[in-house]
Amino acid sequence: MSKPCRSIFYFIAAIALILQSYYNSSAQAVETLVKLENSKSEIFKIKGKFLQAEPLKKTKNLSFMLSYAGFDNLGARISNVNLFDERGEKIGYKKLIDGEYLAEKEFSAWEYEIKTSLPKNPSAMAHLSWFSGEQGILMADDLFPQFEANQTDFAKVTFEMPNGLKVSSIENRLNENSFRVENVEKAIFYVGKKQREKTVNIDDYKLDLTFSGEWLFTDAEAAEMAKEIFTSYKNLLGAVPNERAQIFLVKFPNTNTTGNWEAETRGANVTILSTDMPFKKQSLQRLHEQLRHEIFHLWMPNGLNLSGNYDWFYEGFALYQSLRTGVGINMLSFDNFLDTLSRAHGIDSLQTQKSSLIESSKNRWNGANTQIYARGMLVAFLCDLAVLRKSKGNRSLSEVLRQIYQAHSLPNARQEGNMAILSILQNYPEIRPIIEKYIKGTEKIAWQTELDAFGIESKEENFMTKLLVKPKLNGRQKDLLDKLGYNNWRKLSESSK
Ligand SMILES: [Zn+2]
Repeated sequence: MSKPCRSIFYFIAAIALILQSYYNSSAQAVETLVKLENSKSEIFKIKGKFLQAEPLKKTKNLSFMLSYAGFDNLGARISNVNLFDERGEKIGYKKLIDGEYLAEKEFSAWEYEIKTSLPKNPSAMAHLSWFSGEQGILMADDLFPQFEANQTDFAKVTFEMPNGLKVSSIENRLNENSFRVENVEKAIFYVGKKQREKTVNIDDYKLDLTFSGEWLFTDAEAAEMAKEIFTSYKNLLGAVPNERAQIFLVKFPNTNTTGNWEAETRGANVTILSTDMPFKKQSLQRLHEQLRHEIFHLWMPNGLNLSGNYDWFYEGFALYQSLRTGVGINMLSFDNFLDTLSRAHGIDSLQTQKSSLIESSKNRWNGANTQIYARGMLVAFLCDLAVLRKSKGNRSLSEVLRQIYQAHSLPNARQEGNMAILSILQNYPEIRPIIEKYIKGTEKIAWQTELDAFGIESKEENFMTKLLVKPKLNGRQKDLLDKLGYNNWRKLSESSK
């Protein structure tokens, strides 16, 4: 999953502002100290202050993130809050609710404690700060107070921790334990004793990897895999992301999480929490699946300057493109490709409460998530089929994705996501019915006519959908199927003979 990127545009704007105001020191900047007294503790003591004597915008509100990605009650982790004026005198305040404080007057500095024990639901570990004693992930967005976006241009973050704990992060390192963070909302720090770091070069782009835990595969194998996937998206979308990216591959600290995994791509950070599978080949396959999906998000949505809830697009199309890339790099068989689409169709057919993809995207964490993924992926598949069919195999969804990235990555102006994506899709007459029926509309997905052109048959038995390649294909069907990757495995294995 991914959090829509609010602020790459803001980030660039902020750099300009920082450069401009670094010299006249009127930038709104924050200095923060993150202290852990001993590695057995699960309480971080945090002190912060505005760096300039006169904050650009004064505030009486100290607010923390209260919920994220469906996890609530986050304010309850905060305690022992103190607020100070510019002379360092304590200021009285009222606690409004957990995580929300109102001071008697404007404050210049603050301190508090935050409990970062392992969450009851391990899924939260890819989305929120936690620390297990041996390792942890600190996410600035839920760890630090939320000041208005235009109020913090950058933060200087210093860690004071027991010996043996070191910090891995893509943020600009000032010294061993200090970082200059340009975009506080997106910053992530891995804290641990035994992490391994590796940098992969893709031409002159650098991709950083941080590994924790022992896996059935080697770090080099995982890095090679990330490089291959990254390169294939670079070729697909015609550009590298604006920022240097970091992948954290972290083993769940609890052994009872076998089989689970959870991931998030925030800004330029990919965080994957996972476990090994019984065999190395399966572990590698799963890592490939995780990387295919999350690395795609570095471009979409995180590299797009789009606002609003258009999750159906970047989740659905990430899932679909990740399948296509899996077939393309020969990590996924064509049968697996069809099986995944069949399952998505089954899920979508079972949805009783019908709301459009656009509507569901506003409501992602209230039960609409599965529909967004399943129906979003089916829509991407149908768009691919429509473009391939209309162009007799000369063009495909990749052309549409490249157009979207070129039109809406920085430095293009910020636009509303649904409008921007739909207006590009609208340019393809063959996609228009898909928009009306399945993106804006709530019609049941009827795809047999489209599938026929590719020689694929959709069978429905006991509410289950099964996609099969027909035994006899005509020349045109063979050509189109080939463009979908049907014969990719054969071609690859023949060329390696
Ligand atoms: Zn995702």
